[in-house]
Amino acid sequence: MTHPADIAPDDASPLLVWAEDGSPRSGRFGDVYFSKDDGLAETRAVFLQGCGLPEAWSGRSAFSVGELGFGTGLNIVALLDLWRRTRPENGRLKVFSIEGFPLTREEAARALAAWPELAETAAGLLAVWPAGTPGFHRLDLPQWGATIDLAVGDARWALEQWSGAADAWFLDGFSPALNPGMWSPEIMALVAARSAPGARLATFTVAGAVRRGLAEHGFTVEKKPGHGRKRERLEARMAGEPRPERPVHVAVVGAGIAGAAVARALIAEGARVTVIEAERAGAGASGFPASLVTPRLDAGDALIAGLHAQALERAGDLYRALRGAVVAEGVLQLEQAPRDAVRFDKIAAQELWAEGAMQRLDAAACSMRLGETTPRGGLMMAQALAVRSDAILEPWLEGAERIAGRVARLEPMTDGWRLSGEDDAVLIEADVVVLAAGWGTARLAPDLPLSPVAGQADWIEDEAAPGPSVPAAWGGYAAPTGRGMLYGATHDRGVETPEASDEASARNRATLGAALPQCAARVEAAPAQARGRRAAVRATTPDRLPLCGRWRPGLFVLTGLGSRGFCVAPLLGEHLAALAMGRPSPLSAEAARRLSATRWLTEGDNAV
Ligand code: SAM
Repeated sequence: MTHPADIAPDDASPLLVWAEDGSPRSGRFGDVYFSKDDGLAETRAVFLQGCGLPEAWSGRSAFSVGELGFGTGLNIVALLDLWRRTRPENGRLKVFSIEGFPLTREEAARALAAWPELAETAAGLLAVWPAGTPGFHRLDLPQWGATIDLAVGDARWALEQWSGAADAWFLDGFSPALNPGMWSPEIMALVAARSAPGARLATFTVAGAVRRGLAEHGFTVEKKPGHGRKRERLEARMAGEPRPERPVHVAVVGAGIAGAAVARALIAEGARVTVIEAERAGAGASGFPASLVTPRLDAGDALIAGLHAQALERAGDLYRALRGAVVAEGVLQLEQAPRDAVRFDKIAAQELWAEGAMQRLDAAACSMRLGETTPRGGLMMAQALAVRSDAILEPWLEGAERIAGRVARLEPMTDGWRLSGEDDAVLIEADVVVLAAGWGTARLAPDLPLSPVAGQADWIEDEAAPGPSVPAAWGGYAAPTGRGMLYGATHDRGVETPEASDEASARNRATLGAALPQCAARVEAAPAQARGRRAAVRATTPDRLPLCGRWRPGLFVLTGLGSRGFCVAPLLGEHLAALAMGRPSPLSAEAARRLSATRWLTEGDNAV
């Protein structure tokens, strides 16, 4: 296991130095990011024209650009600026860039301020500038039909983990003499292996080792007259022609958080999407008055901890963009067992979390946050959320065609799948199918290792029972809803026909009383007509990780999300959409393998 957090140097700061003319320089490498006089003109001449842009993306529905060395983002801002002016109709731009020593947003803003003509595009990028935590980050620019997957980590690791194929490459490490690690034969081999047929590549250097490295791995390399004072630059090309894309019609089964997240991501990639739902959006485990968006905390398994950190970041970005979706920011995880103190210390120290995202609190600080005295310490998860599912599911399903029906049968066709209902009537035929029906997926794909866990949550709709001041979790959970509180939840393994019951309500009150007795007392005092409750079934897997990926040719699954659907589904929906559409995934290859829908079939040979 090599998550970049394991190999990142202790200090991944670029050690920026600002020259007198205001241009940034790396103290770490002793080289400039760009030249202040004509950096933008150079970027345009070397990288954009060097890769034959904008002509190369003309008529393309998706175009993928890879970059070694994200730096200040200048190349990508210049790329986006050109894309905005020349974007093919409905075209999608997919950018992948790598940075080992990320700049902060403030540093990048100062550097990019040198180019007033790019101010608007730079502001768009700066608005989504990620935390410099190690791993993959997806930045979304839906206003321009573009996404950027930024891999924070060493170039070699990042290239090994990226599953895309670039149509154009910008090689922009510091000069090979000062930064040989960015230009090694291994790096050139990885770049070649992640190039689409007909890919173009551009760089400012004509160093012999770089030319040889590219040529040895299939590029035809050509020296071109350089920009400004530089004598020469390189252009290279991979053999072949870009493969034409055909329109894809995807049927998504299930309209809970998994189905809605997949539908959203597929629509964003330009697919035609039909969602089939037996009842209504959120009829299953996604339909409670509020849902917590909390990561799985893992002090030992860096890959899984990193995956959840990435998922939480992505979920937060997407939910904040939806009006009324976020009801509370920050969730307090309370110590439940004695070992939690040490475990939470380890988690708070993980490099995966942005500054202040995971804060250890003692019992006094926890009591202050909760608004009631507790003897427990805790972990304040500042990025965790409480959300309202109805403000998420419907907006994400907009743009999808909808069919009301219960899918009972899947039949492969020569090209695609036929889905039929219980009466054998055909519901739909589609090129690709995604099963995202929670526990309902088990009936359609009985081979999947899913098991049901029924759960009930209870709530009070009474302002006299406001719940804790912050959402809190400890095994049980309690969240303020604005009009009262939601608390739960029961876990009844093996139960697949959920029915809300007095007995489960009593268990939820006991769970609440054990951690937050004052909240529990307010629940006891609330009038009967203020009480509500609901039960549903979660789908879980033997290793408690989602099943996400290809299950059969043209048949994909996203299920087994357990109690973490609202945290992981937004990111995994994008991964699944990428797999189904042949687009670059936002996940590292290692993470994708750990979640693969076929992982338990053939150890070590996971098809994703
Ligand atoms: N394209 C950038 C821009 O538009 O501002 C300039 C890139 S600068 C010339 C080179 C970048 O490569 C630096 O940001 C540096 O931190 C990064 N870098 C150097 N060696 C690296 C490595 N081994 N892995 C990942 N990034 C590296």
